[in-house]
Amino acid sequence: MAWTGMRIAPTLGDPAPNLVDAERLRTSFSWAHARAELGTPPGDRLNIAWEAVDRQVQEGRGDVIALRWLGKNDERQEFSYAELARLSNRFANVLEGFGIERADRVCVLAGRIPELYLTALGCWKAGAVFCPLFSAFGPEPVRVRLNNSQARLLVTTRLLYERKIRALRSQLPHLEQVLLTDGDGGDEPGVQSFHSLLAAAADHRPLPTTGPGDAALLHFTSGTTGASKGAIHAHEAVVAHRLTGCWALDLRPGDIYWCTADPGWVTGVSYGIIAPLTNAVTLVVDEAEFDARRWYATLAQERVSVWYTAPTAIRMLMKAGPTPLHGHDLSTLRFMASVGEPLNPEAVLWGQETLGQPFHDTWWQTETGAIMIANYRSLEVRPGSMGRPLPGIEAAIVRRRPTGGVERLANGKEGELALRIPWPSLFRGYLDDEERYRSCFADDWYLSGDLATQDDDGYFWFVGRADDVIKTAGHLIGPFEVENVLMEHPAVAEAGMIGKPDEFAGNIIKAFVALKPGYAASDALRKELIGFARTRLGPAVAPRELEFMADLPKTRSGKIMRRLLRARELGQPLDDLSTLMEKPSES
Ligand code: ATP
Ligand code: MG
Repeated sequence: MAWTGMRIAPTLGDPAPNLVDAERLRTSFSWAHARAELGTPPGDRLNIAWEAVDRQVQEGRGDVIALRWLGKNDERQEFSYAELARLSNRFANVLEGFGIERADRVCVLAGRIPELYLTALGCWKAGAVFCPLFSAFGPEPVRVRLNNSQARLLVTTRLLYERKIRALRSQLPHLEQVLLTDGDGGDEPGVQSFHSLLAAAADHRPLPTTGPGDAALLHFTSGTTGASKGAIHAHEAVVAHRLTGCWALDLRPGDIYWCTADPGWVTGVSYGIIAPLTNAVTLVVDEAEFDARRWYATLAQERVSVWYTAPTAIRMLMKAGPTPLHGHDLSTLRFMASVGEPLNPEAVLWGQETLGQPFHDTWWQTETGAIMIANYRSLEVRPGSMGRPLPGIEAAIVRRRPTGGVERLANGKEGELALRIPWPSLFRGYLDDEERYRSCFADDWYLSGDLATQDDDGYFWFVGRADDVIKTAGHLIGPFEVENVLMEHPAVAEAGMIGKPDEFAGNIIKAFVALKPGYAASDALRKELIGFARTRLGPAVAPRELEFMADLPKTRSGKIMRRLLRARELGQPLDDLSTLMEKPSES
């Protein structure tokens, strides 16, 4: 079968998955064909915002609700595709009025509010680079990111401005303008009202003139393994966002889709803005923070059909038990997927048992820009596996040769997960770190820094981040394996594992465990858990020490930070992210 375009995607009522014949598509698909479906005339132009909203208007979907916003105090606001097209034109005109030009960076520091979405779309239309900053960052990480990005303009709320920016203004030499989403600047120079400017701007704009290689996004990574890095992506990434949304998340026109990731991180933009809008769905955005009862109510009341979330959230739902689900009808849910951390088999099965279907794990990174490996709907789910590469993506397990280049490893062998370059959403650089960027590539592979194995059926299995893997008594152990086993125990909500230096073994394995409600930490339970792990894993791989914690330390995007567990264990100082974050209640 030749690639006939993604418009073969079925309609909402069609029971068949979007990606029906992955095997044949793997051989016939090319990104060039997919690219040829997108773009504005003349054919060498490509713009994310135009693909996300104006194309939908042009194809007759102007009245479809693009964005349904649920405020934290139960407000609701809806925007059709036509409204988003018009308002993003206005915001692009506002930016132009400030002299924001191609490749200038524009930051947003805000929670999940409609203005954030208008800013992203307006930036892209104006040719500027959209750079979201997670709203719960404290002043210091905000200062560092604003300066590193050299942003000329910032969109934020009055409260966040007052708390995190105003006092720093003199230390932000690049920042010219701040636009407040909920107020005006009064007499303060360089501070204006977002809405007044938007109201005064013209509705119309000429077609965007960006090319596929023009920079569109600057995303800071989660900082799980070290200092956060800024990854740059180009407009061409939209080709991958659209298709991977169609294939890996099964998105189709008419879907009501909820991505729980915050747009301060890559998932909340790639799959919280671009993939859903380019697939003509209605995007649900909930401003509120996690609450099990609210989440089930949102799924039921908004009639969500596709849901993309993260293991940490799934584990919190599991921890909350069945009561918050009572009385909620989730029968409209067609597909549930997860990303961000390894999805333990327990969580996949819990989905099946409690919600009637498994969670589908997907793997990707800020650097890859889009989903690379997935349990797409037509693939049989193997709990604990990340799934298989999507068409257009070649993945392999490799070892770096000391002399340069890489060597592919046989199935079943542990090695670094590598992806054959290029694909449209591959990052184009790390901010101010060309050397690090270059070190991610060898031969024609991108090296992910994650360790994995591949089985004989082409499924990939996550082992751990290269930095988290532990050498103990001659064995190499990935944390995921040990943590999974601990999480199979009914008392365990979360587990994190580290290597603790040991005179004889090199390292011994130490596990940190958070318990589910109703279980109390005790010596007896500690022994029971260690014994439980020993019978399943064998003595060489099982933890020798186990400590209970109320909660495991996590990045603000919700990932367990094993490096902080290590630092704590070894009495080392904690670095930027742990000490400079604000508590959630302060954000
Ligand atoms: P930093 O690069 O700053 O340390 P980070 O790697 O956590 O932070 P992201 O780009 O947000 O920043 O996360 C990508 C990483 O998350 C992957 O490299 C992988 O380690 C982990 N990850 C994402 N999805 C999965 C998954 N499905 N299974 C296992 N791990 C995953
Ligand atoms: Mg990373």
